[in-house]
Amino acid sequence: MTDTKFTVAICGAGVAGLTLAVALSKHPDIQIDLYEAADSLFEAGVGIGLWPRSWKIVEKFGLQRPLSSVALIPPESLPQISLNFRKSDEALGLNVNQLITPGMLTFHRPDFQRVLVDQLQSTTCHIHRSRRLVSYTNPQPGSEASRPPIQLRFDDGSSSTCDLLIGADGLHSTVRACMFQEIASKACAEGRSDDARQALQSIEPRWSGICMYRATYPAELLSRCYKRHRALREPTVYVGTNTQITVYPISRGTQISVTATLANFDLEDTPFDGPLMEDVPQDVILHEFDRWEPEVQALFQCADTASRWAVHTCPPLDTYVSDRVALIGDAAHAMLPHEGVGPGQAIEDAYLLATLLGNSKTTISTLPKILEIYDTIRRPFAQQAMNRSRENAMLYTLTFPGLTFDRPEDYDDTQKRRLSEVCYRIRKNWEWVWTTTIDEDIDRAVDMLERQG
Ligand SMILES: Cc1cc2nc3c(=O)[nH]c(=O)nc-3n(C[C@H](O)[C@H](O)[C@H](O)COP(=O)(O)OP(=O)(O)OC[C@H]3O[C@@H](n4cnc5c(N)ncnc54)[C@H](O)[C@@H]3O)c2cc1C
Repeated sequence: MTDTKFTVAICGAGVAGLTLAVALSKHPDIQIDLYEAADSLFEAGVGIGLWPRSWKIVEKFGLQRPLSSVALIPPESLPQISLNFRKSDEALGLNVNQLITPGMLTFHRPDFQRVLVDQLQSTTCHIHRSRRLVSYTNPQPGSEASRPPIQLRFDDGSSSTCDLLIGADGLHSTVRACMFQEIASKACAEGRSDDARQALQSIEPRWSGICMYRATYPAELLSRCYKRHRALREPTVYVGTNTQITVYPISRGTQISVTATLANFDLEDTPFDGPLMEDVPQDVILHEFDRWEPEVQALFQCADTASRWAVHTCPPLDTYVSDRVALIGDAAHAMLPHEGVGPGQAIEDAYLLATLLGNSKTTISTLPKILEIYDTIRRPFAQQAMNRSRENAMLYTLTFPGLTFDRPEDYDDTQKRRLSEVCYRIRKNWEWVWTTTIDEDIDRAVDMLERQG
């Protein structure tokens, strides 16, 4: 039996938390407790997508075979038409370009989670369902050689302890809230009121200025409503000023998935007035698109209702770590979904952090320094991914500065050229997800750890 070098509590069993648990469970000297607020780990939910950069990490975990078997679209590195790009906010639409990229793997989130749970070793990882963290206390070092553990409190009145706490609890993270409350209190006590204010602003998610409508319905409905609709055959993006609609066939072509982004970046960071998510009736959606070309209107004539989400993101954080506590995944950097890299960034956090924690030089007393290395490497990168996702959202909704389409002109050459420029920029802004790997960052992190002596 291996001696335990430290205990880790992971709060949240989404993609971030489960990936970290899988990566850490390869190290028998690390004891893991995984706390999940929901009573089931496999809530029916959205799809998630992985680009080649993330898939290469999954391969390192040896998960390519089980994950390939549950992928909705299997791994395919050959370039293919990802999207047809069409400007459609007038009665007559215009084909602009095709976006050609390597394929993205897509999964139902519960299928992905199930594969990860199957990898966990029951000897080193204990999963606790229906345990919602409400707060933690991290006792500061006293004079004694060994530090008291972090105290965790849950909404059922129970409590627990750990040497290291990881917040993988998503956009509305409790760990992030407690961490920045603690940072703010310290700044306040030291008379740094601006720092305290800044820390408190890191707690609440911010409205991005975007609302998204989502609907799924049988493909047969669409073919009855609009014969040979292009979305029955190929993924298409319809764009217009402030708006982007992505539509593609799913479930082997039997269903159609429609997602519409309505953006008003002037409202970014203002409070959203209304429910974060609600069902909206068909006439509300049809009204939004009543001046668009007929094939777009047909997409919404088939949807009796759609859900409308007010898309919130994480504020850019000054740190992902504080002493023995760290944030990963959406808790650290929930971003706009317009590059499809939220799950991939969660996987990168987990992989890099697990590499550092599992290193033989890492001990209970070096944990704060190890987390600093994680923060130094991962935060700028994830922050850049957030910025790129936002830029792509602006490009898609034709609101990117210098590339807007505000004036009602005819489709002349200039406009076509500008639309081609939009497509080109989207692709350029995105290609890091298939042309780069995390390996260099891993080497840099391990090097920093080794140099700590
Ligand atoms: C509007 C929107 C749409 C998106 N659409 C897509 C998409 O179509 N495709 C795609 O690939 N990605 C999409 N994403 C991104 C993706 O959902 C996440 O980036 C990714 O899954 C990483 O999530 P996570 O594990 O960090 O957090 P989450 O998936 O949010 O998981 C957090 C987990 O923590 C649990 N939890 C929360 N609070 C507590 C607590 N106090 N105690 C214990 N447990 C707790 C939750 O129950 C949950 O299981 C979207 C994101 C947004 C915001």
